[in-house]
Amino acid sequence: VTPTKQTHVAILTSPGMGHIIPSLELESPTLQNNQDGLNVINLPPVDMTHLVAGETSLVVRITTIVRESLASLRSIIETSQQIPTVLIIDLFSTDALDIADEFKMSKYMFCTANMSAYAFLAYLPKIKRVKNSNDLVQRVVWGVADTFEDLEQETYRALIDDEIAELIPPPSVYPVGPIIKPTVGTSQNQAIHCLSWLDNQPNGSVLFVSFGSGGSLSSEQVTELAFGLELSQKRFIWVVRNSIDFVLPSSYYLDAGNTKEIDPSDFLPDGFLTRTHQVGLVLPNWAPQVEILSHASVGCFLSHCGWNSTLESILNGVPMIPWPLFADQHLNATFLSDDIKVAARTQIPPGKEVIRREEIERMIRLVMEEGDEEGQKLRRRAKELKTSALRAISIGGSSYNSLCQLVEKWNTESDSVQL
Ligand code: UDP
Repeated sequence: VTPTKQTHVAILTSPGMGHIIPSLELESPTLQNNQDGLNVINLPPVDMTHLVAGETSLVVRITTIVRESLASLRSIIETSQQIPTVLIIDLFSTDALDIADEFKMSKYMFCTANMSAYAFLAYLPKIKRVKNSNDLVQRVVWGVADTFEDLEQETYRALIDDEIAELIPPPSVYPVGPIIKPTVGTSQNQAIHCLSWLDNQPNGSVLFVSFGSGGSLSSEQVTELAFGLELSQKRFIWVVRNSIDFVLPSSYYLDAGNTKEIDPSDFLPDGFLTRTHQVGLVLPNWAPQVEILSHASVGCFLSHCGWNSTLESILNGVPMIPWPLFADQHLNATFLSDDIKVAARTQIPPGKEVIRREEIERMIRLVMEEGDEEGQKLRRRAKELKTSALRAISIGGSSYNSLCQLVEKWNTESDSVQL
């Protein structure tokens, strides 16, 4: 199904790589490789100096940026050659719904979290104590979810169940994921070095450690993780962030890609880099994650469980060690270990406690050692899910069909606007 000439879809994404990356990727399959049809507009930066990172919650910072950007958005829409017929917002950009109403655009929400989070929002209006909950989802008629039916069967069935829908009609949801981030190759020296290092490691032998685009750890926790890696005696790639100016696990979240150069030896334990240089690679700030996860040498992902990282791991059949830090990451971690069973069950209590090196070593060995029965189950399950994810996005698969229906719907809606 190809978008018609009249179909003009605007996607507004709130700041944060976890929203921006899937929103950009959502456009690719719908445009069927016709990138001429894609126009990426950066809204002008917003002055945020009055909100201090570490003192203002991440959600407040994100929603403030969206709110302060509405005037620019409005003027871009108003002056565009063809007013968009559809507006897709994300969980943090609901303030833009008034603009959609003003320009008679149909309203969709792109959910870059798991479907349980979406279902929770859909049913919030039922919870009387939540003020203004109507603004969250009830004004959005349709949802687009970066997930696939087989991954979240129970939640999906509940969302489309007639009896439940009678109680409170949720916005209908189109599961179109996992939205694939193509492995485009890289020109960055650090990334090239990292991938050729992986080429020289045995299959399934490398642990990839990363806390997403902006997650960070305290100095004490970094030390424990370093010793945990050493004790496990496994090969690893570790994406590190400066723990010296650590304030909150989410402090760097909105600065991803902007981070200043760091020297890991300033905050890793003395001698760590020398002792591990034969088996480990430490990358400051950022790594080509999709390329790493799709490499045959990678056997496990110790992850903060952001939803994109979760899907990228599933799509590549890589079992996980969950290490959630904030937001929906806790929900995802439980989902991975308890529901779909592709992640080690952690004995770490959520909260501020430091995870000790022995527990880290235990989890790494559990997932990565050939002989471990529990680890074998996780690895098998990860392979099964990979097959089912690939099936969902291939021609005729559930997500492929959902996306076709969505484009057809946009075409119909746009035709009626034009008449
Ligand atoms: N990412 C990356 N390199 C990094 C860190 C993150 O390419 O070093 C990408 C990752 O592949 C994913 C996104 O950034 O697509 C992070 O999204 P996620 O939802 O996992 O977590 P968030 O960053 O929003 O906490």
